[in-house]
Amino acid sequence: MMELYDIAIIGGGPVGMFAAFYAGLRDTKAVLVESLPTLGGQVTALYPEKVILDVAGFVGIKGSELIDSLYRQLQLFPVEIKTNTTVTNLQKQNDLFTITTDNGTSFQSKTVIVTTGKGSFEPRKIQVDGADSLVGQGIHYFVTNKQDFMHHDVAIAGGGDSAVDMATMLNDVTASTRIIHRRDTFRAMEQSVNALNSSTVIKETPKKIVSINKQDNGKLAVTLALVKDPYDVTVISVDDLIINYGFISKNQTVASWDIKPVQDNQVFAVNQQLQTSIEGVFAIGDASHYLGKADLIAVGLGEAPNAINAAVNLFDPKRGGPGHSSSMVIKNGHLS
Ligand SMILES: Cc1cc2nc3c(=O)[nH]c(=O)nc-3n(C[C@H](O)[C@H](O)[C@H](O)COP(=O)(O)OP(=O)(O)OC[C@H]3O[C@@H](n4cnc5c(N)ncnc54)[C@H](O)[C@@H]3O)c2cc1C
Repeated sequence: MMELYDIAIIGGGPVGMFAAFYAGLRDTKAVLVESLPTLGGQVTALYPEKVILDVAGFVGIKGSELIDSLYRQLQLFPVEIKTNTTVTNLQKQNDLFTITTDNGTSFQSKTVIVTTGKGSFEPRKIQVDGADSLVGQGIHYFVTNKQDFMHHDVAIAGGGDSAVDMATMLNDVTASTRIIHRRDTFRAMEQSVNALNSSTVIKETPKKIVSINKQDNGKLAVTLALVKDPYDVTVISVDDLIINYGFISKNQTVASWDIKPVQDNQVFAVNQQLQTSIEGVFAIGDASHYLGKADLIAVGLGEAPNAINAAVNLFDPKRGGPGHSSSMVIKNGHLS
């Protein structure tokens, strides 16, 4: 017998997290499914240390702090969270949806809220022999907490906004910081480049990484070659090598799904209730499009209650609501 939920939320970015919280607030049996090991979507993966200025109620909030708050808010209710789980198929039969995941499990839901953003994404990998086996042993693709690099010798590979910001940000806590880029100029905002130039970050440019080896002392020996002269090499010894070559969005959310809601602008077209062309399937956040839609966190957070309320109204039209949260009393994660 497959587990049956009232609402399945696919995608654990900021919008999926808030939708899951709101599903809990409406006292539904909800599940939140996320491909990556951690929640937070683009905010966690791409800019956890950046300050976001346009989320209502915050006079600037660091990405990671916003996600921490959304997580604490989500924990007010017993919503089930499945990370490291990609939804590979969505089917509909007799008004119930069957959701199949890449770890071989399936479950059912009365309604589905798609919050997959622009699709699941993964970091662009470094193409150097042996690098894969050193992930977690000195090579990193994610920085979730800069304190992990306290007093370390760190090198960041990449030349975009995120790599440049990461170098100046980590430089506050590291013993030494290097940035390795194949060009002399960085593809980053002027202010970020100015901050880098006035910091003590060592620029290893225009260089590329040709080999990485783990040394007996636990450090990584990273061999760098000048782009124009592969025989002109230097070897640096670091505790951590952070690869920041950007993310590849697979944008294949529905490619493998039996149900394929109509798309617009490469995401799901929705009506005023945020419902897709398939009854019972709603799409919000970056995963949906309508005239005038802006891909912003504030917009997606605002869409979440509307989609959840529409979903509740669909599977339980007799339920009133939504009511105001300020007049609700919560006991043991349930409304009383
Ligand atoms: C560098 C940068 C800076 C930004 N700055 C701002 C800003 O200042 N203010 C602002 O409002 N917005 C900003 N944005 C945009 C903002 O991050 C997005 O609008 C927001 O993340 C959208 O949230 P979401 O939850 O809809 O989607 P996402 O954050 O994209 O999350 C979608 C999640 O779904 C998961 N997923 C996808 N497919 C599947 C699947 N099949 N199964 C399971 N899980 C799946 C993904 O892994 C991902 O975690 C910025 C974006 C970037 C890249």
